Amino acid sequence: MRKLLAATLCCLMLVAARACAEETRSFFAMDTAMRLRIWGGDAALADECVARVEQLEALLSVTAEDSEIARLNRAGRCELSDDTAALLRFALDMGEKTGGALDVTLYPVVRAWGFTTGAYRVPDADELNALLALVDYRAVELDGASASLPAGAMADLGSVAKGYASDELAALLRGRGIAAALLDLGGNIYCLGGKEDGSDWRVGVRNPLGDGYCAVLALRDRAVITSGGYERYFEAEDGTRYSHIFDPATGRPVDNDLLSVTVVGESGALCDALSTALCVMGAERATAYLAGQREVGAVLMRRDEVFVVSASLRDAFAPAGAFAAWGVEWID
Ligand code: AMP
Ligand code: MG
Repeated sequence: MRKLLAATLCCLMLVAARACAEETRSFFAMDTAMRLRIWGGDAALADECVARVEQLEALLSVTAEDSEIARLNRAGRCELSDDTAALLRFALDMGEKTGGALDVTLYPVVRAWGFTTGAYRVPDADELNALLALVDYRAVELDGASASLPAGAMADLGSVAKGYASDELAALLRGRGIAAALLDLGGNIYCLGGKEDGSDWRVGVRNPLGDGYCAVLALRDRAVITSGGYERYFEAEDGTRYSHIFDPATGRPVDNDLLSVTVVGESGALCDALSTALCVMGAERATAYLAGQREVGAVLMRRDEVFVVSASLRDAFAPAGAFAAWGVEWID
């Protein structure tokens, strides 16, 4: 009996020795709680990842006094670092591709409603119309690293920054030979490689109506990014909820037939841009946009209790718990 126990213990220790050690970092950045889990790296590499996110936040934050974006918004022009210039160029391009559903110049409107300042309020129509005149991503000039804005306009890369950061971390980790990592940047997930036992990561899609998950996606080497009005909102005195995702056409918080949008793909920046933009579009336009898309797949949660899911996710997607009773429509 003793021998058997010793042998079992020995085996367990061997297995433990073969399994990669996990480095975990939990921290607050980009206005959200982040958690990195990295297998097979050392403490220094995990620290480097945290530092990289903090560096990006220092460049991109719209509220920090001294970020490049804050300087651009204050002065109307700024020489940008490679990171900021690349992300701004990408976001402007996504503005074009989404027919203006993503618009990085929405910030004067978002701020007037109190998002980012915390002084929540409902601006009246005159105020909104005046601010909407400042909103047009096509008016941003970006010539190499030199960016300039029309007078009064302000840019905000908050809709794409976390996705971009996840791409940067994944590239950094891959470059160091890391084969397994789970990067959670405030619910924006990047799963690098697969699990150590060779199986896929199982990524939960947040239940927008309550606690827990509404679906699970089995994936490897993918960003999984969700946007929805439920993530951040304020409640006015009359009980109306106003979400942090805005329709650039109206300057008002989005209130349509979608509860949330989850986008899956190899590029976190693209998934982040699209999760926000598809929320703005609403189910019909979003479904049309996704048809024939090869770079990304998506899970739209429609208010009428239907998941609208890209056919490319057919093997990856499974509704969870009570959500198994929801309908599923596939987008080819
Ligand atoms: P996300 O959480 O990625 O969906 O991004 C939402 C954030 O992006 C908000 O907190 C706003 O600061 C900003 N935002 C809201 N609506 C839009 C929009 N239509 N286009 C670009 N940025 C937006
Ligand atoms: Mg986004």
